[in-house]
Amino acid sequence: MEFANFNVYLTGLIHKNSFKKQFVFDSAELINSGVQDPLNEEKYTKVNGLIHRYPDRVVLTVTNRCFAYCRFCFRKNKWKNFSGFELKEVINYLKNKKHIREILISGGDPFTLSDKQINDILFQLSILNSIEVIRIGTRVFTSNPQRIKKETVAILKKYKPIWLAIHINHPDEITKEFKKAVDLMVDSGIPIVSQTVLLKGINDDHRILKSLFCMLVKLRIKPYYLFGCDQALGNEKFRVSIQKSLDIMRKLRGNISGLCLPVYAFDLPRGGGKIVLEPQNILDKEKNIYKIKNFEEKEFIYNDI
Ligand SMILES: *Cc1c(COP(=O)(O)O)cnc(C)c1O
Ligand code: SF4
Repeated sequence: MEFANFNVYLTGLIHKNSFKKQFVFDSAELINSGVQDPLNEEKYTKVNGLIHRYPDRVVLTVTNRCFAYCRFCFRKNKWKNFSGFELKEVINYLKNKKHIREILISGGDPFTLSDKQINDILFQLSILNSIEVIRIGTRVFTSNPQRIKKETVAILKKYKPIWLAIHINHPDEITKEFKKAVDLMVDSGIPIVSQTVLLKGINDDHRILKSLFCMLVKLRIKPYYLFGCDQALGNEKFRVSIQKSLDIMRKLRGNISGLCLPVYAFDLPRGGGKIVLEPQNILDKEKNIYKIKNFEEKEFIYNDI
């Protein structure tokens, strides 16, 4: 009964530990060092729903509904209090900004909208000449994959190049329903990248992540970002230190193909933006001579030009 708020698909998977920890409230969330709006999106919201933080791309939040409601959601402050969006206003804002070439449709989960609503949004955004690419950020593949039908794919196919960025955190989230939905998309030529949140006690182990990323590439999904958990209210218990995160990245780098390897990134507080960190390989540098360690931790001298 305690899972009454989940859809049938998620309820069927909740017996798995990795699922429970992501979606079920735990009293450790009451330890609060986080903030309401960790990315300071309020400040960069130009018209209702439209976040313009980076020069060439914007985020359009089209809903606050989601199939998942992850405990660590960085937009959980929007679950109850969402101002919506007005497509006319959005188009007006974008019309005169030729340097914006990508729109990221996000939420909540855009696929909580009907196919017709999605079609309307894509149609109107596609009219803008300067927009070259539309990206849809979604967790539907792991939270309600049966939502993706042939008709849904046909709608996405009609418009500008569309990329999907899917949220997935654990190999347990790859089910036969997940695979079926992914195949529908990729077979019709819609590329998919993945975003994973590094979560303490859920996937903060290089073996779990190796298995996840390799499985994704087998399904023709490119692992894109491994995100540090944002400092939203109640997220403390999920956070992994930068040091541990980079250690995990180093172990992955040495063990899996570049195709399977995402970049590690997190958002700086107060709207500082995304930052990518790499495990450090330069041990020393004198003039043009570098001391560098390789993936096996062996040291080499490199003479730069
Ligand atoms: C993450 C993010 C983007 C997209 O950044 P990419 O590095 O292109 O994936 C765009 N706008 C905002 C506000 C974001 O937080
Ligand atoms: S899937 Fe994304 S939007 Fe939905 S609750 Fe999780 S983090 Fe938030």
